[in-house]
Amino acid sequence: MQSLTTTHYQQLLALPTTWKVEDVLLLMLGKQIEIHLEYTGKKVDCPDCGKSSSIYDKAPEQRWRYLDTMQYETILIARVPRCDCKQCGVKTVKVPWADRHSRYTLMFEGFAVALLQHCSSIQAASKLLKLNWHATNEIMNRAVKRGLSRRNTDAVEHIGIDEKSFRAGHRYVTTLNDLKGGRVLDVVETRTIKATVRLLNSLKKSQRKQIKSVSLDMWKPFKSAVNRLLPKADIVHDRFHISKYLNEAVDTVRRHESSQLNKAGDSTLTGSRFVWLRNPENMTKKQRKNFNQLMACELKTGIAWSLKNMFRVFWQFTNHDSAEFFFNYWVAAVEKSELKPLIKVKEMLVRHKDNIFNYCAL
Ligand SMILES: [Zn+2]
Repeated sequence: MQSLTTTHYQQLLALPTTWKVEDVLLLMLGKQIEIHLEYTGKKVDCPDCGKSSSIYDKAPEQRWRYLDTMQYETILIARVPRCDCKQCGVKTVKVPWADRHSRYTLMFEGFAVALLQHCSSIQAASKLLKLNWHATNEIMNRAVKRGLSRRNTDAVEHIGIDEKSFRAGHRYVTTLNDLKGGRVLDVVETRTIKATVRLLNSLKKSQRKQIKSVSLDMWKPFKSAVNRLLPKADIVHDRFHISKYLNEAVDTVRRHESSQLNKAGDSTLTGSRFVWLRNPENMTKKQRKNFNQLMACELKTGIAWSLKNMFRVFWQFTNHDSAEFFFNYWVAAVEKSELKPLIKVKEMLVRHKDNIFNYCAL
């Protein structure tokens, strides 16, 4: 008879009736929950031909990482039956909760992929998932494979090309995303023109024709590849990418100024990196007080921050003329600041002005 806990997990996992939760162990020290499953069916389906056949034996115990239960890593453990198929021989059957050869459940992989889409680096996502980057990368590749087998005839209209760094930014992968469907369509290593062309070529010719817009970073090779393969699609530069550049510029100003101040024995800016990344509305009372004190010091970093923050207004315009008026006003303010890292971003934004206005549909 099942205990209350096993029944509880049986319901949560929603597995077919042939799989039974045998036991649930709470490992307080290892911060893990082990869920032991047992196959209770008499027959199994051959993974290759799909025919029902008898059970040959059960493979050695395997483990799959599931979504966490509260703060506990949750692991499924089972011995998977092997079928005795007359046609195909002895084969390990498929389990309903995971892809073949994966040590993670589909639910976990789905969560990992969603997280990856919102993190700028694989490393950041890995940290949150408590995995090494290698495992995270593998999950992403498997998600792409699943996407590939599903997407063949799908129409995609709005795509995004994005880079992710791993290992402290020295290596990159480029991802192709279906913005409407929220899926990763493909991934290639590096972020060269050649790699991006290969990425776009993974779409069928008929699919490429249907693409209306491509959202991308201001990285030149991306744009060159899109111009070559999707000459009719609108290129758009989105808010996320632009704020990334502005944040980086503020940080460059801060690092430079901080090292100058340090030389003079002033540690005002030391350890303040994250202060300048926060938006005022997200600051706690204490953070705001600290921030106001820094702003009162009339630092170059403070000016850089103000210019970054000012650009947020741009996204609120719905009328082309007012947006343009503001844009030019901001450009003049950046020029006046004489802060090189910000001027560099400003020049880039001026060069891509049309694509930015495209994004806002202005
Ligand atoms: Zn078979």
